[in-house]
Amino acid sequence: MSIFGGETCELCDAARMSEWFYEDDECWIAECESCAVPMVVWREHNPAPPDDVKERLLGRLRAVVDEFFDFELRIDDNMRTIPNHYHAHARPKNGFYGYGLRRKN
Ligand SMILES: [Zn+2]
Ligand SMILES: [Zn+2]
Repeated sequence: MSIFGGETCELCDAARMSEWFYEDDECWIAECESCAVPMVVWREHNPAPPDDVKERLLGRLRAVVDEFFDFELRIDDNMRTIPNHYHAHARPKNGFYGYGLRRKN
């Protein structure tokens, strides 16, 4: 859970309100409720994963997009609303929101 004395956030709660695509011991990937794009969330409440962790997380995110979607992605890990817990969005290359993104069958 948290390494900062009990501090948590909504990403720590990991509420299963939207569709989940992937999860393991290190991260989970679900559809972001506000943006409707796939989002990877580190399981640690910490804004700065080591490079190797970050690389794995973003790799998983790309793999999920590859498996479930059909769009060209750009990784956006600018954490606007929850700045203290690492997460990254896979956004369409020329867009921000994912409404109507093409899915693979
Ligand atoms: Zn979002
Ligand atoms: Zn958190």
